[in-house]
Amino acid sequence: MNKDSVEILGFGVNSYNKEQALEYILENSGIVVTINPEMISYAKNHSDFANIIKNADLVIPDGIGIEIGLKILGNNIKRIPGIDFGLSLIKEVSKTGEGIAFIGAKPTIADKAVENLKKEIPNLNVVYCHDGYFKDEQAVINDICDSNPKLILAALGSPKQEFFINELKKRLPDAILIGLGGSFDVWSGQVQRAPKIYQKLGLEWLYRTIKEPQRIKRIFPTLPLFVLNVVKERCIK
Ligand code: UDP
Repeated sequence: MNKDSVEILGFGVNSYNKEQALEYILENSGIVVTINPEMISYAKNHSDFANIIKNADLVIPDGIGIEIGLKILGNNIKRIPGIDFGLSLIKEVSKTGEGIAFIGAKPTIADKAVENLKKEIPNLNVVYCHDGYFKDEQAVINDICDSNPKLILAALGSPKQEFFINELKKRLPDAILIGLGGSFDVWSGQVQRAPKIYQKLGLEWLYRTIKEPQRIKRIFPTLPLFVLNVVKERCIK
């Protein structure tokens, strides 16, 4: 983690806006973590995961939970949705023609996502594309390395995607690696992103929970506990 960061519950989050974050990672490469309260809560009990976040080259605040938490701690930092950051990375890397690897989501979804992205970004150079339900991780890692991508997009859900890109970075030290959750589902057209008004109000989580009620388990009790812990941190500061 570089110096332009603030702390939340023991984890550093970069204070860059989206353009600065893009510029930084394109210049320096490495692991990008799109952090949210669920990840912080998981990291509290899993030191191997906590270390990945702590050693990431860039940590961006993905979602309203982190934005609110940072605000409680006195830091006015706007969230950068991972899906938007991922798309900007694809566009930037495509300008140079360097290779991009897509790994994640259910079979055919990644292919469909690539097909749709190519309509918008004709220079997109896809050197590897695979679904996220593989058995032999080492074989997938070998194949990705052989394809020598500049950018690796892993949409495997957290924490699986962060453990995966952490392994991959050992073999591809000059690449940019990012975990992107359900982004391929959206790019493929399989899942609708929340309407702009929800995005603007920071209520994407509400829209997704209405559409997929089983996600409620991911919000409660994690989100209220996260806010409570941030308030406690604020009080002892
Ligand atoms: N996924 C995967 N491999 C797995 C488990 C999940 O590729 O072993 C994919 C899943 O199909 C979905 C994404 O990971 O496309 C996780 O999406 P989720 O909505 O959970 O992520 P979020 O956007 O909430 O971080």
